[in-house]
Amino acid sequence: MRASEIFRKYDIMPNKKLGQHFLIDKNIIRKEVELAEVRKDDVILEIGAGFGMLTEELLEHAKKVIAIEKDPKLVEVLGEEFESQIEEGRLEVIEGDVLEIEFPFFTKCVSNIPYSISSPIVEKLCNYGKDSTLCVQKDFGERLVAHPGDRNYSRITVLVRFYFEPYYIYTVSRSCFLPTPKVDSCIVRLIPRKEHPVSMRDRECFFGMVRALFTHKKKSVKNAFFSSRVFLGLEKEDAKKVFEHVPYADRKVFQLSMEELVGIFEWCKDQKLKFGKTKNVS
Ligand code: SAH
Repeated sequence: MRASEIFRKYDIMPNKKLGQHFLIDKNIIRKEVELAEVRKDDVILEIGAGFGMLTEELLEHAKKVIAIEKDPKLVEVLGEEFESQIEEGRLEVIEGDVLEIEFPFFTKCVSNIPYSISSPIVEKLCNYGKDSTLCVQKDFGERLVAHPGDRNYSRITVLVRFYFEPYYIYTVSRSCFLPTPKVDSCIVRLIPRKEHPVSMRDRECFFGMVRALFTHKKKSVKNAFFSSRVFLGLEKEDAKKVFEHVPYADRKVFQLSMEELVGIFEWCKDQKLKFGKTKNVS
């Protein structure tokens, strides 16, 4: 499959709103699938399949590919270009918005995702907890693998590390895409953790606490909690008294490791402080 031919044949005009920057370098695509360790028995979820450059490579290695694509025109292209694989049941194309669809069964996710919704996509993938190899904007990839104290260590870093061991695999030059984006990209792999830092029963509450803290990530722990006191229904004076004794009180939020966050969470539980459900925003 050659990108230029497909563009001409179907008269494709990349849609900026849908973040359409197509990865057209065959070598990079091959390398991505190789590093994702796609096996013959894998059912691969591909988010934002475009006109199917990556899909084609995935079909060569996996048992089945489930491709989600929002653009009806591209769904049509996929239908024509992969007619036989669809008939054989090796490719299933789902037209729709990745954020609104409940994913069918899959064993791994390999995708070049639309960058404007990277954060909610990764959050959604957290709920499935499957091995995921993703091409994302370089900045975003660096954020996923950031360490405590790094400028870009953030809520999504903590969220991802709760479920996965994240790896930055390699940088992909912007010149490998059509049309050329303004920034470089990278491939990251998220390998599921066998054990989670807190029990699954407590995770909503834990993420609620993480949100309350990271909304003020440059503040000290006690000041961040104090600023988020409305979420806990605490009055000024009570909040001041309670958070005076929080562990790591004077440490900056963005310097906290997962273990330290868990320590703070245990303390909050002892104090009967309850954090509500989190919403899907970064
Ligand atoms: N994977 C392709 C295309 C990447 S561009 C490639 O490697 O070349 C991102 C793709 O995601 C586009 O095809 C775009 O139409 C699609 N897309 C954008 N928003 C989407 C959404 N909310 N749900 C599903 N697909 C989406």
